[in-house]
Amino acid sequence: MPFAALGLPAPLVKGVRAAGYTQPTPIQAKAIPLVLSGRDLIAAAQTGTGKTAAFILPILAHLLKGGQRLRALVLTPTRELAAQIETNARDYARFTDLSIGVVFGGVPIPPQERLLRNHGVDLLVATPGRLLDLQGRQSLSLDEVEILVLDEADRMVDMGFAPDLRRILKLLPTNRQTLLFSATMPPELNKVAKETLHDPARVDLAPPSRPAAGITQAVYPVPRHLKTDLLHHLLRETDTGGVIVFTRTKHGAARLAKNLERRGHSVSALHGDRTQSQRERALSDLRRGRIDVLVATDIASRGIDVDDITHVINFDVPHTPEDYVHRIGRTGRVDALGDAFTFMSPDESKDVTGIERFLARTIPRVMLPDFDYKARPQPGAAGRERDEERSSRGGRSGGGGGGRDRGDRSSRGSSRGVVTVVRHGGSPSGNGGGSRPAQSQSQSQPQAQASSATHGRRPKAADSTRRGKRRI
Ligand code: AMP
Repeated sequence: MPFAALGLPAPLVKGVRAAGYTQPTPIQAKAIPLVLSGRDLIAAAQTGTGKTAAFILPILAHLLKGGQRLRALVLTPTRELAAQIETNARDYARFTDLSIGVVFGGVPIPPQERLLRNHGVDLLVATPGRLLDLQGRQSLSLDEVEILVLDEADRMVDMGFAPDLRRILKLLPTNRQTLLFSATMPPELNKVAKETLHDPARVDLAPPSRPAAGITQAVYPVPRHLKTDLLHHLLRETDTGGVIVFTRTKHGAARLAKNLERRGHSVSALHGDRTQSQRERALSDLRRGRIDVLVATDIASRGIDVDDITHVINFDVPHTPEDYVHRIGRTGRVDALGDAFTFMSPDESKDVTGIERFLARTIPRVMLPDFDYKARPQPGAAGRERDEERSSRGGRSGGGGGGRDRGDRSSRGSSRGVVTVVRHGGSPSGNGGGSRPAQSQSQSQPQAQASSATHGRRPKAADSTRRGKRRI
C-alpha cells in the first residue's frame, strides 16, 4: 500500500518519497489513518519500526490545514531522540512551509528563546525539563497546542519525568489529541494515560519482547575480569561495521572507551557526563564511519537511529529485559540485519535467565576456542572491576531493576543452555552475509542448536574500510 493511500497530502507523500521510503511500515499503516481521524492513540511499538514517521506524518498533515502557532508538541526523554525526531520531521516536511523546532537541556537557553520568540514554530519537539524552563520564562505559549505526543513515554517516567509531564499536561488545552508511544505500561504511566487520553485507539504491533527478526543473538560466558580482553579479541577478529558497546555505568563506559583506544580501536563514548556537543559528535562520528565503536550507557539504547550498526555488544548484561530489547534494537533496524552479543560473567547469569524468560527463548552460548578464558586478572584489574560492579548496583544508569540481588554465584556462566565453540570464519546464520561455511563444534549438548553457532562471527576482511566491510 503506498503512502498516498493512507490519506496523506501530496507534499508529505513527496517528502516521504524523497526520504527514500516507498511502503509504509506496519505501525505506519495502522497508526497514520487513526491519527488522521483525530483519535487519541496508545501505541506499543518497538524502536526501529518506523514509529516516528507514524506520528509525525499525520501531525504534519494536520498542521498543513492552517494557522501559524505552536499547534503540535512532541515530548521525548533524551536530547538525542529529540534532535532525531526534529531531523525526521524536517525531512518529511521539506516540500511544505511548516516550521519545526527542537529544544532540550544541556545547551544554552537564549538561542532557543530567540527561535521561539522571533520565529515561532508550528511543531516543537522538546524534552520536558527544558520545555518547562522556557514556558516559565514566557518564551512560548502552550495555549493552542492541538496535538500532543508522548514518545518513549515509559522511558520518560523511568527517568523521573512524571511530575514534569503532569505540570505540562496542566498547561495544555484539554481539548486536544494525545498520542502515547511506549514499549511498556508501568503503573505510573498507566495513571497518567488514564488521566490524559480519551477513548484511545490501541495499536500493538510489536511487543517489546520480540526483537526485530533480523537480529542474531548470542551470549558469551566470560569471567568479568576478561571482558575487555574478549571484546578486543572479538573486535579484532570479527568483521564489523558500526558497533555499539553498552555498559551499565558512565564511569564504565568512559574507562572502557579509553582502554579500547589504547588497544588501537577508533572509539567514542556516549553517556550522561559528556557535554551535548561531545554526545552529538560521538553519534555523528559513528554515523559517518569516522569511528568503529561507540561505547554507551543506556542513554543511547532508545530511539537512537544510526544506519549500518552491525553489532550491539552488551559488555554488561542490562538491568532489565526491556533494556535488553531496546539495546539490541540499535541493530537490525527496519529490515536490516545485525548481531547482538551479550557478555555474561558468572554473577550475571541470573539476569540473562530473566531476559530469556522474557523472550521465551534460550539465547545460544558461544565460546571462542582461540581465547584464553583462564587468563589471570592483570594487577589492579580485579579491584577496579569490583568497584565498577558496586557502583553499577548502587544506581541505575537509565534502566530499571537497580538494587536487585546480583550476587548469585551458584550458577556458572555456561551452565544454562548449550555452549558452542565458534571458530573464526563462521558464516552468519541465515543473515544473508558471508559465504564461508560455519566451522563450529558444540560442547556439552551438541545435539541442540548447533546450527545457531556462528552468530555473525565473520573473518575480518584484510582490506576492509569501515563502510566497505559493513555486511559480512
Ligand atoms: P523509528 O522507529 O522511527 O526510529 O525509525 C527507524 C528507521 O526506519 C529510521 O531510520 C527511519 O528513517 C526508517 N523508516 C521510517 N519509515 C520507513 C519506511 N516506511 N520504510 C523504510 N524505512 C523507514
